[in-house]
Amino acid sequence: MVLQDLGRRINAAVSDLTRSSNLDEKAFDAMVKEICNALVEADVNIKLVASLRTAIKRKVNFKELAPGVNKKRVIQKAVYDELVELVNPHDKAFTPKKGKPNVIMFVGLQGSGKTTSCTKLARWYQARGFKSCLVCADTFRAGAFDQLKQNATKAKIPYYGSLTQTDPVAVAREGVDKFKKERFEVIIVDTSGRHRQEADLFNEMVQIQEAVKPDDTIMVLDASIGQQAEAQSRAFKDSAGFGSIIITKTDGAAAGGGAISAVAATRTPIVFIGTGEHMLDLERFQPQAFISKLLGMGDMAGLVEHVQSLKLDQKDTMKHLAEGVFTVRDLRDQLSNIMKMGPLSKMAGMIPGLSNMMGGMDDEEGSLKLRRMIYICDSMTDKELDSDGKVFTDQPARMTRVAHGSGTSVREVEDLLTQHRMMAGMAKKMKGGMANMQKAQGVM
Ligand code: GDP
Repeated sequence: MVLQDLGRRINAAVSDLTRSSNLDEKAFDAMVKEICNALVEADVNIKLVASLRTAIKRKVNFKELAPGVNKKRVIQKAVYDELVELVNPHDKAFTPKKGKPNVIMFVGLQGSGKTTSCTKLARWYQARGFKSCLVCADTFRAGAFDQLKQNATKAKIPYYGSLTQTDPVAVAREGVDKFKKERFEVIIVDTSGRHRQEADLFNEMVQIQEAVKPDDTIMVLDASIGQQAEAQSRAFKDSAGFGSIIITKTDGAAAGGGAISAVAATRTPIVFIGTGEHMLDLERFQPQAFISKLLGMGDMAGLVEHVQSLKLDQKDTMKHLAEGVFTVRDLRDQLSNIMKMGPLSKMAGMIPGLSNMMGGMDDEEGSLKLRRMIYICDSMTDKELDSDGKVFTDQPARMTRVAHGSGTSVREVEDLLTQHRMMAGMAKKMKGGMANMQKAQGVM
């Protein structure tokens, strides 16, 4: 069962109960049973489910609830708290410090998403002002260095690796030494995986650890691993040890409960979860936010953090909007901001209205459309960009020129200008409202 389905089922069980008119002990027991069944089907370890059941029942203690108390709230809170407890390791995860080298080593089986997650994490810290880089110590898998190189280049992250050196320990040491000298702050070391846990793999990991002395070791676990997650993470913990976990492919069709159970088995915090193949598909894992999202309560804090990390420049547009103005350039800036936010389908889930705008297109079509709109704007002159768009209706030849210059059609240019006119009209209407909103937010 996919995590979202799990959330939906738990949510439905709690809502059914709290909506029903006779909230008696029998109905309460049925709800607890349904929640536990859903968790077991999602591969959460059966012992953990049993202790969650006991804890909810103890917290609510239906028989002794005073008549006046709001039973619904007590039940909702107990379920929420116990789910949070399920994913809470009670151990603080490592966080890098600015101004010094922080070496982070990745371990995990082949195919778990290690290399992808290394780059995502390097990018994540880079976006938050850390000078980040990657070291490829996977000399076992042919093509591993090429893959890391490609990912790193795309994300504009410096990397180190070797096509000729076959000793992973030497590559790791050389890479880390080089980047330490160059005063990098987050140095991420990707190591090789194997298809199975085997002595060779663990020996290699220990040797690399001794060579680079990581400040943190992160184990990467594929969400689809199911019940084996516990044994696998214990084996890694016993040999190499690790201080944090990243669970990948939480967007996939597999049950994530097994991987979640690994937290309890090893008392190790999940620090991030991978939510897709794109570079930006990495979310910080926090027990409360994760459970809120699972239960459909939204994750506003997560969204705000994500948008802030992108360092979008909104100042001019905000100022313009306050004045009731919206130029073609403002539209261009907004389009490119949307592109920076990551896969459109994900953002659409967080921001109401965005999915309507893209008219049911998939990510690829949607971003292609946005990109073409940006090309159109980039073929305009400064005068055109800073205008209210009327210059185009006055002199339609400008549209033909822009269409040629951007490799699009006159029809697409017209569509963009129509979209702009609509937004400029809205800006005019919002004039007073925006100014007040900005004062409240301290933008101006
Ligand atoms: P490694 O062998 O552990 O280094 O694994 P890779 O980084 O090569 O990843 C294996 C595959 O999983 C690749 O096709 C990745 O694109 C994919 N992958 C990694 N993380 C995620 C994720 O969070 N979601 C999805 N859908 N795919 C992922």
